[in-house]
Amino acid sequence: MEKEKTQAELLSEKLTLKKEHFSKAMSDEEIAKADAFCEGYKTFLSEAKTERECVDYIIAEAEKNGFVPFVKGEKYNAGDKVYYNNRGKSIILAVMGKKGVTEGAKIVASHIDSPRLDLKPTPLYEDGEMAYFKTHYYGGIKKYQWTAIPLALHGVMIKADGTSVKVSVGEKADEPKFVITDLLPHLGKEQGTRTLSDGIRGEELNILIGSRPFKADSGSELVKLNILSMLNEKYGIVEKDFISAELELVPALPVSDIGFDRSMIGAYGHDDRVCAYPAYKAVLDSDVPEHTILAVLSDKEEIGSDGNTGLNSAYMKYFICDLAKMDGIDGRDALSKSECLSADVNACFDPTFPSVHDKYNCCTLNHGAVITKYTGSRGKSGTSDASAEFVGKVRRILDAGNVSWQIGELGKVDEGGGGTVAMYIANLNVDVVDLGVPVLSMHAPYEVVSKFDVYSTYRACFEFYKS
Ligand code: MN
Ligand code: MN
Repeated sequence: MEKEKTQAELLSEKLTLKKEHFSKAMSDEEIAKADAFCEGYKTFLSEAKTERECVDYIIAEAEKNGFVPFVKGEKYNAGDKVYYNNRGKSIILAVMGKKGVTEGAKIVASHIDSPRLDLKPTPLYEDGEMAYFKTHYYGGIKKYQWTAIPLALHGVMIKADGTSVKVSVGEKADEPKFVITDLLPHLGKEQGTRTLSDGIRGEELNILIGSRPFKADSGSELVKLNILSMLNEKYGIVEKDFISAELELVPALPVSDIGFDRSMIGAYGHDDRVCAYPAYKAVLDSDVPEHTILAVLSDKEEIGSDGNTGLNSAYMKYFICDLAKMDGIDGRDALSKSECLSADVNACFDPTFPSVHDKYNCCTLNHGAVITKYTGSRGKSGTSDASAEFVGKVRRILDAGNVSWQIGELGKVDEGGGGTVAMYIANLNVDVVDLGVPVLSMHAPYEVVSKFDVYSTYRACFEFYKS
């Protein structure tokens, strides 16, 4: 016979907020769905490692699903599917709603750039009879983590005649990789006295790219010349073309399941492809919505969202204004009535480093999508801090859709902090709150997420679009 509940147990059930592991709420069937969803995500992670590659990948997927390039001034009807490609580095997918944007749009915004190492404008040099690239890191990284791991080179170069060359070297098994060398421990006495953040310095992030000299009777820097000769043969480029290039080094590490139970995924750049993927998948999977729905997948978040492909630029605002004009209303009215999930990651509680978290207010692996009411630092500086009303609305949508979610704060007060695109969207008078996936080892070359949390974030986006 089941033991009768005490009065305290009954009251606690009614009144207390419970932090629940997903397995309490999920059937085996749902767990299988989450695992299957993540196989698609793993393919995306493997094939689209930079913002440009994400845009290409998402356009190909969208076109397969009936999306066409957005044409300003065209009259669209409910259910029409369009995409807006902003310079090949950020993209908006939209499905027109029955009410258009007359009562606002439903936006999910995330970013497709990740921390990495960019080549400097004059990167190539020879030293110690070896050839190297100089780099400037992009986004917040712990520099020492980027040494002694295989790296791949991705990007574009614009030649003197204006033609563009795409570069991708180091992803395929038979392709060469690149590496930043580190000091051996035997000679690391002085380095060992540096602080952790100073252990490897910015100007020490030099990429080893070759060591064989060009065969010649005489000459200097023949290793560098040999590399230039090979690049000229393969891409038709000369050294000056590095000036007009965007070349990025990313970890050449395979995407893998993590753990005996395969419950997690290890990969480079979960932040924030782990939210971009659920966001655009939810748009692809949505029926004809009431309100026009947008997945805004942006560049430049990791360096502060500035630049015309970042969300501190006006490209999303202009797009919504174009939709508003089509619907016969002012752009500002469409924006003011719009609602947005800023889909970005949060720092997952790590029991090895518990001291940086407030255990009552951090997010936990496998507890579902995490709502983050505010980010920022030093007394909520640099955040939009969502309103109680809007958080209440999102909470109702998620509960009605049976989505697993949790609330979380990014670390202890004054421990550090961070920002997302939320505040730039809020500045357009849009209601916005952060929601996304808890990440372990965030911004490391190899980050970890839970499959269940990825799927919950997809479910959250899907239910939000439906609302
Ligand atoms: Mn992020
Ligand atoms: Mn980030």
